[in-house]
Amino acid sequence: MSNDSAQGKDFIRLIVDADNESGKYGGRVHTRFPPEPNGYLHIGHAKSICLNFGLAEEYKGLCNLRFDDTNPSKEETEYVESIIEDVHWLGFDWGDRLFYASDYFDQLHEYATHLIREGKAYVDSLSADEIRKYRGTLTETGKNSPYRDRTVEENLELFEKMRSGEFKDGAHVLRAKIDMASPNLNMRDPAIYRIKHEDHHRTGAKWCIYPMYDFAHGQSDSIEGITHSVCTLEFEDHRPLYDWFLIELGIYRSQQIEFARLNLSYTVLSKRKLLELVEEGIVSGWDDPRMPTISGLRRRGFPPEVIRRFCERIGVAKRDSIVEIALLEHTVREELNRTAPRVMAVIDPVKVVILNYPEGQGEELDAINNPEDPAMGTRKVPFSRVLYIERDDFREDPHRKFFRLAPGREVRLRYAYFITCVDVVKDPETGEVLELHCEYDPATRGGDSPDGRKVRGTLHWVSADHAVRAEARLYDRLFLKPNPTEGKEDFRDFINPDSLRVSDPCWVEPSLKDAEPGSRIQFERLGYFCVDSVDSAPDRLVFNRTVPLRDSWAKIERQMKK
Ligand code: ATP
Ligand code: MG
Repeated sequence: MSNDSAQGKDFIRLIVDADNESGKYGGRVHTRFPPEPNGYLHIGHAKSICLNFGLAEEYKGLCNLRFDDTNPSKEETEYVESIIEDVHWLGFDWGDRLFYASDYFDQLHEYATHLIREGKAYVDSLSADEIRKYRGTLTETGKNSPYRDRTVEENLELFEKMRSGEFKDGAHVLRAKIDMASPNLNMRDPAIYRIKHEDHHRTGAKWCIYPMYDFAHGQSDSIEGITHSVCTLEFEDHRPLYDWFLIELGIYRSQQIEFARLNLSYTVLSKRKLLELVEEGIVSGWDDPRMPTISGLRRRGFPPEVIRRFCERIGVAKRDSIVEIALLEHTVREELNRTAPRVMAVIDPVKVVILNYPEGQGEELDAINNPEDPAMGTRKVPFSRVLYIERDDFREDPHRKFFRLAPGREVRLRYAYFITCVDVVKDPETGEVLELHCEYDPATRGGDSPDGRKVRGTLHWVSADHAVRAEARLYDRLFLKPNPTEGKEDFRDFINPDSLRVSDPCWVEPSLKDAEPGSRIQFERLGYFCVDSVDSAPDRLVFNRTVPLRDSWAKIERQMKK
């Protein structure tokens, strides 16, 4: 889609081709996926994962998984574990190349010392506020700190004292000595080490100074021999700094390349905002099926191939845009339409009694598991005198276009018989429909009429005596607004209050009795569902709706073409 160019390749692949041609990296392609373990991965990260691991696969190269764990305060082992699980689940493997930026703390400390010795870094003792003031703005050049001209000896001594814990947080920082007048704010003597008296999830209490992201990232790439360091556009302005460190340190240089991050409509893709939803209990956790996280999508019923295919479809571009969530939903429908077996389930039941079907009698009818794939075969569905159908499939006063069940009207019960509604039993006080009394035509077994009689409605149903009780969680988009973060309002004001509706009881046909957690099915006419892997138990079936059946993508695509 967006990877249009002569060879149908995106701009990153063209750069890699050119590098292979020129021999810049000796034909080597080595990428990395560098998450910060401060939250769960989301579908935006999946784009980066598919790109980095995809490049390695296509060019017979390698891709590392590297935790960018330079900030001890927000990082946790739980996140590390979830990230490992999610990347594996997406179908990628880093072999024995699982790294942590914290593995390089000694080396990074040495690099910093090297810069001090070269007169390229100094210890600043201004407060954070003062440093900000001295930095200037986009229109105003910065001012040199009064500490900028400390001698190498003084700097080495102070940096050593920073490391050995003699100072409080914020008392000093180590800064690169570049250019306070640079038009690029990132080049105005950026901080490279700060004091933080905090334990780190891997190095414990060993350090009380930690490298800044910019000082760790490029050097980690260099240490690992990364060729193409792919990152999102917000780092474009950091590239001169990325290069500056590698050049000044005289070490191997990886090439940073920026691409546009994924934005998806009707959701948010920022770990900070997702964390807020979790912490405020707006969702049940990082893996709430409404979350755009990999773990949320997995629990919602998305197969990993669907996420990979979606990432392929959206392609890689240099300009920011918002991708329609309808495309993601379309992609999962396309897959489940072919692969998910179909069953009947009733999520908002009303009882149907077939008056002319003998009490105590029953039979089994043949049902097709998936008409898209005959190899999936057939199954038996029990039929009896008392059934459930969807409350919504009956109207006492049908409007002109309502073709389903109504008093005196004949419809087809899928795979079963034609039935006609002969009576409606209502609660005398509330008027609520309690039962529909119907008659069936035994000659229509299997759902075909021998005399060519036509009916316009075909309903799904389950046999009340045989059905298995379950809970259905009907998920919808998390936000009501296509872009919940635009404008001044708080994004939480746009949460869709109906993003989860629970239907309990919901009745499913007995073939689902032992359905495995995580298995995916279509409830005929209702949507794609999966067995919830967290709350289901042997005596409790919980189904999550992945998506309803109706696909809005084609319409959106037509509108976009106009
Ligand atoms: P967030 O903005 O959600 O906090 P982040 O960029 O801080 O994300 P990281 O853990 O640093 O999260 O991301 C790891 C990698 O994934 C980085 O290379 C980053 O550029 C990439 N990435 C993050 N979000 C997206 C996105 N929406 N689309 C594409 N790539 C992304
Ligand atoms: Mg980041």
